[in-house]
Amino acid sequence: MIKTAIQKYLQTTGQKRMDVRTAMFDMDGVLYDSMRNHASCWHRTMEHFGFTFPEWEAYMHEGRTGAGTINIVSMRERGHLATDEECEAMYHYKSKLFEQCPEAKPMPGAYELLKKVKGVGVTPVIVTGSGQKVLLQRLQRSFPGIFRQELMVTAYDVKKGKPDAEPYLMGLEKGGRFLNADGGRLQPWQSVVIENAPLGVQAGVAAGVFTIAVNTGPLPDEVLYQAGANILYPSMQALADGWEELLDSLKSVVSD
Ligand code: CA
Repeated sequence: MIKTAIQKYLQTTGQKRMDVRTAMFDMDGVLYDSMRNHASCWHRTMEHFGFTFPEWEAYMHEGRTGAGTINIVSMRERGHLATDEECEAMYHYKSKLFEQCPEAKPMPGAYELLKKVKGVGVTPVIVTGSGQKVLLQRLQRSFPGIFRQELMVTAYDVKKGKPDAEPYLMGLEKGGRFLNADGGRLQPWQSVVIENAPLGVQAGVAAGVFTIAVNTGPLPDEVLYQAGANILYPSMQALADGWEELLDSLKSVVSD
């Protein structure tokens, strides 16, 4: 199953084998159990402004900008886009609700996996659409000794968010700047992506990187496979438990 997934990936890239040097982690829903809060706040905001938006739908839009999500719903329910003022008012309302939520906890299994990844010499990189200013401090508090500022891609680094390939291409660039003597960008087969959301999976696949889905939310596995996931684990704990076996295969499987 794992070997078949890697074989299939190698065939699409035309590579003989992978050479994994970094692992690019999404943050919300992967490293932090934060999607519940986001989903509930989006649901309450949309209802407040007269739109229908069940919590599960927030998971379908995870990774999109606030305005992007609002406009999709506005088109669907009113047949026209939201004005900038409406977008701003709704995003502000949602942010206020979010501030009142309890701080999300690290995802079970996440720190164990990060330590295993780093322990075998694979460099963890953060690739998130989040624009929180104190992100690094928070990551260092939750996952001591794992992350560094120059190995983070956030909302401030990219023009186009997920599902565009740009955030993960930027992750390959920052990884290469850090690891390669000449500072050149890493190739897609020199990394893996860990994502929980359909749009995030699409972004990893669009960047040409082997994309590992962890289904930490309420959507069916099928949605993540349809987005292009190369392989899927039911939780971060399951990925942490299966890391050695996965890494063995990533190192050893050769395209035939
Ligand atoms: Ca996510």
